[in-house]
Amino acid sequence: MNTLDRRHFLGSTLLLTGLVSARAQAQATLPPLDEASPQAMAMGYRRDTAKADAKKYPKHTADQHCGNCQLYQGKAGDASGPCPIFAGKSVQSGGWCNAWVKKAA
Ligand code: SF4
Repeated sequence: MNTLDRRHFLGSTLLLTGLVSARAQAQATLPPLDEASPQAMAMGYRRDTAKADAKKYPKHTADQHCGNCQLYQGKAGDASGPCPIFAGKSVQSGGWCNAWVKKAA
């Protein structure tokens, strides 16, 4: 690898590392979704899956929660994470909404 290739490689690596770090930080700082917001209420979102409205959402079961939903974008073990249904907000790993879909194994 000549000097020019090495500089290009190092510059690209630093740029990529910075972008990944900025994205991770942006996700970590998302404000929590408010259960009382119109978007959350429309989807039946609850911060605690045990508090989901059983009469309104009879398909809900106690083992369903954001952490095992296909749409959840938080990492395993995180208390909360992003969800594309509620862009710009974080949802609780133990939460639930009517869009829950079982995560593929
Ligand atoms: S779509 Fe899935 S991850 Fe998003 S709030 Fe509903 S249950 Fe949670």
